Amino acid sequence: MSDPLYSGPEPTKLTIHQTDSPKDLLPPDQLKFGRSFTDHILCATWDANKGWSAPSIEPYKALSLDPAAAVFHYAFCCFEGMKAYKDSKGNMRLFRPEKNIRRLNTSAVRIALPAFDEDKVLKLLAEFTKTESRWIPEGRGFALYLRPTMIGTEPDLSVSRPQSALLYIIGSPVGNYFGSSGMKAISLEACSSPVRAWPGGVGDKKVGGNYAPTIVAQESAGTRGFQQVLWLLGDPQVPEQQYMTEVGTMNLFVAWINPETQTKELVTAPLDGTILPGITRDSILDLAQERLVPQGWHVAERRVYMTELKKASQEGRLLEVFGAGTALIVNPIRSISWNGEVIDCGLKEGQEVGEITITMKTWIEDIQYGEVEHSWR
Ligand code: PMP
Repeated sequence: MSDPLYSGPEPTKLTIHQTDSPKDLLPPDQLKFGRSFTDHILCATWDANKGWSAPSIEPYKALSLDPAAAVFHYAFCCFEGMKAYKDSKGNMRLFRPEKNIRRLNTSAVRIALPAFDEDKVLKLLAEFTKTESRWIPEGRGFALYLRPTMIGTEPDLSVSRPQSALLYIIGSPVGNYFGSSGMKAISLEACSSPVRAWPGGVGDKKVGGNYAPTIVAQESAGTRGFQQVLWLLGDPQVPEQQYMTEVGTMNLFVAWINPETQTKELVTAPLDGTILPGITRDSILDLAQERLVPQGWHVAERRVYMTELKKASQEGRLLEVFGAGTALIVNPIRSISWNGEVIDCGLKEGQEVGEITITMKTWIEDIQYGEVEHSWR
């Protein structure tokens, strides 16, 4: 990091060129995730000989890249997904942004893109958010989704470390996904082949190449009426070896009565290299330690095998299952189809969300929207 080439784009050199033609804001009920974008883009380029350019905030624009650019061929692309919120006093708030910037850096290094000084990029992110503050919709569930991205831009078809890169940030206002009808529990199809990630791979990094290969399985599950895929690992021929990793693009949590201790336990997969270290996952684990453990709960990071989940459901020990990620915070799960059977995940008939799931959402939103003061704001 002491190498000036890797020092990062300098916030003190930031230039801001405001657009002459600001767009109209969309009515909040018409906001669709990732479909409309704000007025500006933040850009900084990196060159192996010259280091980082002065960063700039410019009117939102299309990028012009050589068709041989590394990103188009070998997936030199990593990104982040995070949100800026408006509190009841109209202040803008970011939720644990240093964690997203750290993850972006780790992803970049894994795919041979330049590492950067995280404080500098954090400051640029804050400047970008300030510039776009009119785009942060008000109200619980509404936010400005921020997408910091880094791509390899060198036009070179040899498979090698790109000698040039572009770091950019764009923003997209997002609405309340579930609308006024409240949360809806989803049904999953467990999938042991294809797999999302594998030991020694890049499942723990937010690189573009992790996402395109999931779509066919997702679509296929959709044709059978399932909303998401539950990604398993373990021999597809041996059901006893299959364990849960993530759901769609979310981390997975199981609340159950532990068969050995007979105590309530909140479990999620350990960060063994196949799991994206979600910021929501981390926040839920911390809040559970702080607020559920004093109520007699246990919190564990360990593998859950499908046979264990099925047994817990059959014995009435499965309390709740939910996905966790920035987009929805939590997504309750009603059932999981696996190995020719349907595993009931503990919700009662007509119930869309369990108590722990909704409590986690409330705790996290209270912090995100500044209803309670917390160091994560
Ligand atoms: N897993 C995957 C594969 C994801 O893409 C995401 C969304 N970034 C998550 C988990 C959840 O991560 P976070 O809580 O940081 O949004």
